[in-house]
Amino acid sequence: MINLLRFKQTAAYDFLHNNWNGFLSLLYPNTCEICSGETTERAPFICFGCDNELDYTHYERSVEHTPCDELFWGRVPILQAYALLFFRTGSSTQKVLHAIKYKGAKDLAVDFGGRLGSRLANTRYLENVDAIVPIPLHSKKEFSRGYNQSELIGRGLADKSGIPVVHLLKRKRHHASQTKKDRFDRWDNVADIFMVNQRVKAHYSHVVLVDDVLTTGATLEAAARTLIQQYPTIKVSIFTLAIAK
Ligand SMILES: [Zn+2]
Repeated sequence: MINLLRFKQTAAYDFLHNNWNGFLSLLYPNTCEICSGETTERAPFICFGCDNELDYTHYERSVEHTPCDELFWGRVPILQAYALLFFRTGSSTQKVLHAIKYKGAKDLAVDFGGRLGSRLANTRYLENVDAIVPIPLHSKKEFSRGYNQSELIGRGLADKSGIPVVHLLKRKRHHASQTKKDRFDRWDNVADIFMVNQRVKAHYSHVVLVDDVLTTGATLEAAARTLIQQYPTIKVSIFTLAIAK
């Protein structure tokens, strides 16, 4: 005890006390979630090199419809669909999504949700949006993964935009993995998987569905339909971190 008190009076203590975070990062440098290279305190999750390889869509600058919008034409009325990045096999974007989905990179999911918010700040995409609705995972899946990546992306977007995350949708039942099925099989498989969460009492006029990646759009279509069936006047937009290219 006396030794500790003495230590507290030393210059070394003052130094540690004042520079604790810097000291910790010397002991445990932040590493890139993609390549394990060193990152900076300001951008702790992915390194400059990996960040530089990300292929942004820049759709927020587009004044006309984008391929994201076109994907839903003739299927379900979506006000605005947006994806932050292009997804190509082997790309940096694929590695980010993989880390978010399968490697427990929760901070990365929130960080990229924040990037979504920064890109869309002061654009038409966030105008009059009153709720961010994550695509729910089945509870068994969420339990085994420990988190829902869509919710974390939504949280990052909420932090940047001030729009609340609302759990307006629930999963109905566990369904077989979608990965090996074509669009029509997939549609049969997902059409009926969501229900509106009756515990949410507030009414929303324009909600954004948030998910990690846009491929066939079947899951997002099903989610949007469920909301529109329950609230016929609701406007639904869709934001994802990436679109398959
Ligand atoms: Zn890296």
